[in-house]
Amino acid sequence: MKGMVIMALMTGEEYVESLRKLKLNIYMLGEKIDNPVDNPILRPSLNSVKMTYDLAQMPEYEYLMTATSKITGNKINRFLNLHQSTEDLVKKVKMQRLLGQKTAACFQRCVGMDAFNATYSTTYEIDKYYNTKYHENFKNFVKYAEENDLTVDGAMTDPKGDRGLSPSKQADPDLYLRIVERRPDGIVVRGAKAHQTGICNSHEVLVLPTIAMRPQDRDYAVAFSVPTDTEGITMIIGRQSCDTRKLEKDADLDVGNKEFGGVEALVVFDDVFVPNDRIFLNGETEFAGMIVERFAGYHRQSYGGCKVGVGDVLIGAAALAADYNGAAKASHVKDKLIEMTHLNETLYACGIACSAEGYKTESGNYQIDLLLANVCKQNVTRFPYEITRLAEDIAGGLMVTMPSEKDFKNPETGSLLEKYLKGVSDVSTMDRMKVLRLIENLCLGTAAVGYRTESMHGAGSPQAQRIMIARQGNLAQKKELAKAIARIE
Ligand code: SF4
Ligand code: FE
Repeated sequence: MKGMVIMALMTGEEYVESLRKLKLNIYMLGEKIDNPVDNPILRPSLNSVKMTYDLAQMPEYEYLMTATSKITGNKINRFLNLHQSTEDLVKKVKMQRLLGQKTAACFQRCVGMDAFNATYSTTYEIDKYYNTKYHENFKNFVKYAEENDLTVDGAMTDPKGDRGLSPSKQADPDLYLRIVERRPDGIVVRGAKAHQTGICNSHEVLVLPTIAMRPQDRDYAVAFSVPTDTEGITMIIGRQSCDTRKLEKDADLDVGNKEFGGVEALVVFDDVFVPNDRIFLNGETEFAGMIVERFAGYHRQSYGGCKVGVGDVLIGAAALAADYNGAAKASHVKDKLIEMTHLNETLYACGIACSAEGYKTESGNYQIDLLLANVCKQNVTRFPYEITRLAEDIAGGLMVTMPSEKDFKNPETGSLLEKYLKGVSDVSTMDRMKVLRLIENLCLGTAAVGYRTESMHGAGSPQAQRIMIARQGNLAQKKELAKAIARIE
């Protein structure tokens, strides 16, 4: 029965097994990684993506985690959904908050979802203008991804070289991904995409341009998808602060969040062949900006969900630390927890608002309100820093000076640590240490990649949002409002 209803959905275990079948070309810490699935540094990031499959199987989360396919009418994972209403957009944000709460990490599957929706609506408009076949190509790809419940990495950010020069003016022409050969059966691409969240846990990669293009950048205006184990693709995993704690024995405590994490990589496309039916943009430079702007809008909305869920965990950890320190009743501690909550819910409010104010595109899927999504992300570049500052304030200095798990296990020092690092008498020293390590993980350990710096630069650095806010803010209309009230003719 169950199998019939959710035919297209993979279980978490099936997802893990499906990744084992990929022949990915991955390097990390100077070595080729032949078994990424069981690698202790990478496994927590896979577990976070697995959670997007696990929750979709649970009846209590079905309404958030699944959706109805726009293409086939089948039940699909919401991470593959083409949003069909503002309600869908709101559910997306709620789903992301839920996953942030369950993983306290980046669960990686959102970039593909956001790239899906941007590519769907843009290809429709390109086809209308040029009579091309990109939308049909893309719909077939979506259908394939839905039917196999795939994780798709959305690849946007090129290395960009000299930021003052356009793609075709770079000293090295490969600093933006480009078409190096056009063949009757497809194209050959070369270049790289940086900061690729979750690429090593993905079945497919959907590549989009990263900036608006001019006519001379024709070879750089390219969008396509290929399986992640396509010949010519190399992934070089990024380091995270404290990553090698995961390799140590007897260091589970020190890791802070043993089960979950995020992952990023530099992905190189060294003359990768893309067949015609997987091409979604091929030289139509004037549409590069549209696809970028729409993707960025969706991804700025996303942060109003995922960062809020992680923030929920951090606020909870800070409150626990206060309890365990015996400081929970202090009025300034209570006030700091209120401030953290206020900031976190403000992020959420913008995520919900830009969704509720969404609109239907020509292709029929829904786009968020651009101004509110950019306000959302601009807040995200700030508030998690303030929330972590307050968490560190409440936690106290021990979160960065406490000894290792091995010292707790050493008979010479263990009892000393038990005795002298005790907080309130009815909470074990070990529980107090666990919550401090979780705070450390989020504020300056492996998860800080996602919760802090990614909040700054992910989905576009702060200035990118300010440009959009300036464009969308409609100052002219506001001047008219003021003139009318002031009776200026
Ligand atoms: Fe999803 Fe957030 Fe990770 Fe981006 S940072 S992939 S929105 S969890
Ligand atoms: Fe991101």
